[in-house]
Amino acid sequence: MPIKDCKLYIVGIGPGRTDLMTVAAQQAILESDYVIGNTTYLDQIEPLLPGKKVITSSMGEEIARARHALELASEGNTVSIISGGDAGVYGMAGIVLEIAEKECASAEGADADADAGTRIQVIPGVTAANAAASILGSPITSDFASISLSDLLTPWEDIEKRISGAAASDFVIVLYNPKSRNRNTNFGRCIEIVRRHRSGSVPVGLVKNAYRDGERAVVTTLERALDYDDFVDMHTTAIIGNSESRIWGERIITPRGYHRKYDY
Ligand code: SAH
Repeated sequence: MPIKDCKLYIVGIGPGRTDLMTVAAQQAILESDYVIGNTTYLDQIEPLLPGKKVITSSMGEEIARARHALELASEGNTVSIISGGDAGVYGMAGIVLEIAEKECASAEGADADADAGTRIQVIPGVTAANAAASILGSPITSDFASISLSDLLTPWEDIEKRISGAAASDFVIVLYNPKSRNRNTNFGRCIEIVRRHRSGSVPVGLVKNAYRDGERAVVTTLERALDYDDFVDMHTTAIIGNSESRIWGERIITPRGYHRKYDY
């Protein structure tokens, strides 16, 4: 399938609340003939959908969803494919671009379309790391590493290596996908690995359903984090502080380093 005259937006709609979606994301959706996404995300953008052809797709059907979006766009339609948070952070941007890249490479002669990629636009959104951090205060004001604990697409050995590396290098660590229905132990295993490198008093923030119904936040420490193992679920983002992070009331502060240079 040649990707000709393709106008495809890969849209990140933020963590959940309408006012945390960018104006560009809203415009892309309003401009589109077709909007494709899973039900949770389509519910979030319902006010923007009247008059659109809406295609609902299930979790786990990302490849089919990406192909479908590219196909509709190549037929001359304007299409938005929706991701929660930011589409480039564990979202749809990667798989859509990978499939487009493959299709361009396999198209021959007159069908080959070197500019196809430029007609696919990724619209940024507020990712869960930002959303959770804002609720917790300023936990990621210094260098941070983002790690997904989902071993559906990444081998667990690789995830463990990344956790150890980030923990040993004193990065603040943001954990996406800390649990899912079938992977209940990954969060616990991750905390154990970080404990080998970091003091038990290091702050840990857990934010569930940031900027959505049912929002809840917990501030605790590395040594107490597993007391909240049941609290952590697939709608939670966890942030583990670095050696300088501290708790102030209900908040986590990771200093940027001003104290090393200034008196205040
Ligand atoms: N593209 C998304 C991430 C998808 S991975 C983004 O940029 O945010 C799914 C994981 O993101 C969840 O398991 C959870 O860890 C995190 N997440 C997404 N939305 C969230 C929210 N509103 N509150 C807390 N965590 C969230």
